[in-house]
Amino acid sequence: MTDLIALDKRHLWHPFTPMQPWCSPDHEPLLLVSGNGCTLRDQHGREYLDGNASIWTNIHGHGHPVINEAIIEQLGKVAHTSFLGFTHEPAIRLAKELVDLVPGGKLTRAFFTDNGSTAIESAVRMALQFWKQNGRQERDTLIAFDRAYHGDTLGAASLGGIPLFKGSGNDFGYRVVTVSSMDELAGLAADRVAAVILEPLIQGAAGMRLWPQGMLKSLDAWCDAHDVFLILDEVMTGFGRTGKMFACEHEDVVPDFLCLAKGITGGYLPFAATLTTERVFEGFLGDPGEGRTFFYGHSYAGSQLGCAAALASLRVFRDERVLEQLPAKIARLRDGLRDLPAFRQCGMIAAITVDSPDPSAGVKICLAARKHGLLTRPVGNTIVLMPPLCVTLGEIDRMTAALRAALAEVAPTESTA
Ligand SMILES: *Cc1c(COP(=O)(O)O)cnc(C)c1O
Repeated sequence: MTDLIALDKRHLWHPFTPMQPWCSPDHEPLLLVSGNGCTLRDQHGREYLDGNASIWTNIHGHGHPVINEAIIEQLGKVAHTSFLGFTHEPAIRLAKELVDLVPGGKLTRAFFTDNGSTAIESAVRMALQFWKQNGRQERDTLIAFDRAYHGDTLGAASLGGIPLFKGSGNDFGYRVVTVSSMDELAGLAADRVAAVILEPLIQGAAGMRLWPQGMLKSLDAWCDAHDVFLILDEVMTGFGRTGKMFACEHEDVVPDFLCLAKGITGGYLPFAATLTTERVFEGFLGDPGEGRTFFYGHSYAGSQLGCAAALASLRVFRDERVLEQLPAKIARLRDGLRDLPAFRQCGMIAAITVDSPDPSAGVKICLAARKHGLLTRPVGNTIVLMPPLCVTLGEIDRMTAALRAALAEVAPTESTA
């Protein structure tokens, strides 16, 4: 293991990770070896509860036999075949199940990619190209919200409202206007707007910021009134995370584009889907020579293994009645944390924020929680608890107890404030 860690420090470059402290001789990174349910094991055999569902991806726990077996069964047939000009049964079945999951029947088409950022890029490109080739060239503006996070590729990052993640360069031939509330929309020239993009109910990377109740509904009404596309980024909120299958169901909204990734395979394989309407789809029809085709896609689009995992995850939702069991877990999470500083919650997402002058208080609290058997990752001084949905009430209690113990060690005054 020491050899492996030395090799890591010599050859790897980790995402969102300051590599200088990582590589320093006295830092021993956590090397995760195996997992089962909500429990992960490290190089020393120590066990931890997966308090952030492996960066918001895991739904039914690690090593779930139904998902494991579905992947193995698919592997016995074929792992991956190109989706450019070919098709296959797992993708066809998955597309049908996904569009049937969204109430209302408005979303009829599934476009597959392999991560959340590209699910967003697909939606944005479809929206822009749709207007361009359907007589509304002036609709070249995208509206995004302050503090939004839609991913890390340049296109997705151009929509972000958090400077840290924005990267460089934003000259893609479209305009991005950032607004911070519904009120600011009123003054805009709506007839130049191609689409509005939103993380419904809650902004994740902004530090779990909740939107006021009804915000999604009024945004949908504004989009409707101005014939502007609504793109919902449910990369984090999709697949039961907020207590319903999709966050948009809380306000009876069906967008024009629904972007899904993280939890779509239960957190097992990289996979993503952009669901859209027949209207959008038809805007791309025509003789190939007319150039109306959607020329965009990724090599691993529609991966057979990914489809098999996603289908298995949806089967687990049904067989284990996952959504029905969430209200008790959501209540338990609330009861365990509600008296802590700046507590907020959206279904199976809970967060607190310590009001500390030390900008690394969040990191310190998460490191302390690790000693108490809880893994999670801070967003600034916000500590997030969003366990796999299969978490038991007992595991929730252990997570909240670990977080309290960590707070008492690192920020004793803040935790009682
Ligand atoms: C994680 C996330 C993304 C980006 O997904 P990746 O798979 O990391 O590219 C986009 N939007 C939201 C809301 C996310 O939480």
